[in-house]
Amino acid sequence: MTWGTIATWRMAHDGVVKASDLLTAGGQAGDAVEALINVVEAYPYYKSVGYGGLPNEEGVVEMDAAFMDGDTLAQGAVGGIHNVMHAVSVARALSHQHYNSFRVGDGATKFAQLNGFEMTNMLTDRAKARWQKRLAELATENMTPYDGHDTVGAITLDTTGSMAAATSTSGLFMKKAGRVGDSPLSGSGYYVDSEIGGAAATGLGEDIMKGCISYEIVRRMGEGETPQEACDHAVYPFVAKLKKRYGKAGEFSLVAMNNRGEWGVATNVEFTFSVGNDQAAPRILIAHPGVDGHSTLIEPITQDWLDAYEKRIKAPIE
Ligand code: ASP
Repeated sequence: MTWGTIATWRMAHDGVVKASDLLTAGGQAGDAVEALINVVEAYPYYKSVGYGGLPNEEGVVEMDAAFMDGDTLAQGAVGGIHNVMHAVSVARALSHQHYNSFRVGDGATKFAQLNGFEMTNMLTDRAKARWQKRLAELATENMTPYDGHDTVGAITLDTTGSMAAATSTSGLFMKKAGRVGDSPLSGSGYYVDSEIGGAAATGLGEDIMKGCISYEIVRRMGEGETPQEACDHAVYPFVAKLKKRYGKAGEFSLVAMNNRGEWGVATNVEFTFSVGNDQAAPRILIAHPGVDGHSTLIEPITQDWLDAYEKRIKAPIE
């Protein structure tokens, strides 16, 4: 039976393995996508998602997350939620409500508290040290505060044909308090329709939002494009358009899967992702924009790359 899952960045891989195990055993798409994201949220060395995520300018870890059920199109999302271990699980709970399904700030945090979600201080010593270091650097150097961001965004397809999508991120490092990115925004950070497929994004939220790019990929798949065609056609012309009309374009990396378990990606930077389906076991791949400016080069990851990554994420903060 067909099943599949794809998710952004190397950090998603353990979650993709977990989701694949659940899906192989007949698990449901929504449960699998939540479990996938929960694995990433709990790992303290991933500095852009959940526990260990980097804080905003004021030292507070504010998280954005979303969940979508591709059968019913139900969505739940949180923006700027704090002190919650699994923001995506809160988003999923909100997706069961017709009203008040997208909550931000204290209202979102209160909902989590009242509904028994695990509450904890999400600012680890390591993330705090990075924040303090960056504050000192910004005081002396003229540098951009925004780095150390990434979102885990994932799509799942189960053996009954149901699909789900979810995202989770601590957003841009040193973002202003209350800044919300694309990740909890329907159609920008994610979208899924079990009759077609789903897509999810990572990159500069402010620019991803300008193109509602996840929805555009799903719309294109609905018109018969393969996931790879839909990604290429939605992402590269839009990046070019933004450069022309807005003067610049931030980072865009998108993953997509259709309801047959076929997948695609497009990116304007080096981009790792993890993907598995009933045809091929979960694996990490690396994508680059093609030299022609409108296609994507995809290769297996090398052991050297993985070793360097492992070293980088655990390196002492000096
Ligand atoms: N899209 C996220 C945001 O803008 C960050 C990222 O994925 O790198 O908050």
